[in-house]
Amino acid sequence: MAMTVGELKERKRDYFLARSQDDELVMEPFCYCGKTLEQEYFCTDCNHKCHVTLIVCDDPGALALAQKLLAGSPDFHKFEVETLAR
Ligand SMILES: [Zn+2]
Ligand SMILES: [Zn+2]
Repeated sequence: MAMTVGELKERKRDYFLARSQDDELVMEPFCYCGKTLEQEYFCTDCNHKCHVTLIVCDDPGALALAQKLLAGSPDFHKFEVETLAR
C-alpha cells in the first residue's frame, strides 16, 4: 500500500522516511505534521512525544532494505512498512 504525506497527517501517523543510499537504509524521523524530529522525538509544533512505528519508503531499494530490517531485527517487529505515494 502506498501513502501520501497528506494521508499520514490525516491518520496522525508519525513515521520514518526511508531512502536507500549505496545499499544502506537511511531513515529520518518525522512527526505526522511534517516536522523533522530531533533525537528525543518530541514535536514542539504538536507538543507531543512522537510514537514512530511506521517506515515510509521513498524508493524500491529502501522498501527491500526496510523489509529485511523488519524481518531480521527484534527492535523493529512492531513496525509497519509502506511506500510513499506522490
Ligand atoms: Zn508527532
Ligand atoms: Zn508535529
